[in-house]
Amino acid sequence: MKIARLAMTASIAVACGFGFAAAAAEPAHTHWGYEGAAGPADWGHLSPDFAACEGGKAQSPVDIAKTIPAKLGPVAVSYQGGAVEVVNNGHTIQANPKATSSIEVEGKRYDLLQFHFHHPSEHAVNGKRAPMELHLVHKNQETGDLVVLGVMIVPGAANPALDAVWTVMPDKEGTAKSPATVDPAQLLPAGRDYFRYEGSLTTPPCSEVVHWVTFKQPITASDAQINRFAALFKDNARPLQPLNRRFVLESEGK
Ligand SMILES: [Zn+2]
Repeated sequence: MKIARLAMTASIAVACGFGFAAAAAEPAHTHWGYEGAAGPADWGHLSPDFAACEGGKAQSPVDIAKTIPAKLGPVAVSYQGGAVEVVNNGHTIQANPKATSSIEVEGKRYDLLQFHFHHPSEHAVNGKRAPMELHLVHKNQETGDLVVLGVMIVPGAANPALDAVWTVMPDKEGTAKSPATVDPAQLLPAGRDYFRYEGSLTTPPCSEVVHWVTFKQPITASDAQINRFAALFKDNARPLQPLNRRFVLESEGK
């Protein structure tokens, strides 16, 4: 029955681990976190569905250090501003847009499902982590493949789109009473050169179904914005995973 289980894992893995569909599909919620007995080193033992967290060979996040320059097409972004539902799911703050937004990568369309945040960043560049990282999770409706756009967040000018989310985000687990109005395009850097590699969800079930696109240029948030998130999530970044036989491609700058 291994195949059936794998297929199910793939089908419920709609998010970077924070799947809203997963909650409905899984009969019993398996508790996991970032420290203690249910921390990252133990994820693989917590449930048979989480086996990839320990046995997988294409896990995320990774340190982006040695890269291969490549002729990669641009990521075409078609985002729409509008209402987003803001949820504190106990692992992060997740925003679920109501409007349809999408990206196109290598001729395939991926719809934006949700975006969420990590403190500190999960990916590192040359061994260095940023204060925060944003993940915008997209899915191809035909294949179920995911593209996650990763954006590093460093201290600087306040970001108004973050303010909209931060203003309504609940301090405890639950959904914000009122939606935020956000244009997700305001969360992307102006420069769109990127790193690309094949990896996984960074949270259980750690499914290896993610095409990672990490922008080289960060966006900024004010110290106050970063501190506000850090007060809720002291550390919600999975440790770096070995690259193994994978390689990281780097789009050539203009
Ligand atoms: Zn994430």
